Amino acid sequence: MNFYPTEILRQQEQNGDIKSDNITVLMYHQISENKAICRKYWTCLHVDIFHKHLKLLEQLGYTPITFKDYQLVLSGELALPRRPVIITFDDGYEHVYNLAYPLLQKYGMAAVVFSIGNRQLETNEWDQSEGIPTFRLLKDNQLRELQANGFEIGAHSMDHSDLTTIPDSALRQEIHGAKYYLEDVLQSPVISISYPYGLVNSPIKALVRSAGFQFGCAVSTPHPSHLSDHYEIGRSTILNSTGPLALGIRLLRAYTYYEWARHRLSRVRGYRWRRKRKALRESARIKQDEITTREAVT
Ligand SMILES: [Zn+2]
Repeated sequence: MNFYPTEILRQQEQNGDIKSDNITVLMYHQISENKAICRKYWTCLHVDIFHKHLKLLEQLGYTPITFKDYQLVLSGELALPRRPVIITFDDGYEHVYNLAYPLLQKYGMAAVVFSIGNRQLETNEWDQSEGIPTFRLLKDNQLRELQANGFEIGAHSMDHSDLTTIPDSALRQEIHGAKYYLEDVLQSPVISISYPYGLVNSPIKALVRSAGFQFGCAVSTPHPSHLSDHYEIGRSTILNSTGPLALGIRLLRAYTYYEWARHRLSRVRGYRWRRKRKALRESARIKQDEITTREAVT
């Protein structure tokens, strides 16, 4: 297949642009067979498109690595493959095990799955207020099987809280607790974490480092290279509409600069949006209180 990013990638390699700090890190969430759900929710990628992604990565000569592999590269124990890429899945949905894992195995590829530390949580309850359907999360034995087959299991906090808005005591539990409980399940060190909603700040990064994590994944990053800051790693978002061509473009060096600039702008807009949403929720709560008071009086 003569895919046009191939030539650009070859030139990048000749120019020495494929370095350890600009490995593309891809962020997936849910893989689904349900076309209606995939059309509606940006986090749901249809399994057939995911299959095409893997075919493309293979055709372009990419080798998916994990953060544990990357740590070995940094310590000089492993050579970086010619075209490395890191595939990550946030939230740890069971469909990653049922649908993505067999395909990745078929292509001899591994991925990083960021799982919730609260092992009592069986579905994505945190999405209910947004009207997103519930999906089952990975069970302990599935996490262990993925790890035994070359996957890396990272943490995704305890309960999927926005880490930037919770009190310090809760923050410690979200970070230390997730590491503790996942390590208990896996009987192996958990060295990577992805921040829920991609939200992080300097105190969170310091706490994550002190807890013993080596890598922290965000979405946007203050740096134009994905791995410049190991505690705020940038990732290219895979949407429900990201076809193979869009994936090919995401693998290009220029695209990481584009994403970096775009996310810096959206951070400003996102902050304004969160403030507006908070104000709306507050006014809805006051109205509900008024109705409850009226009902109690009558
Ligand atoms: Zn998440």
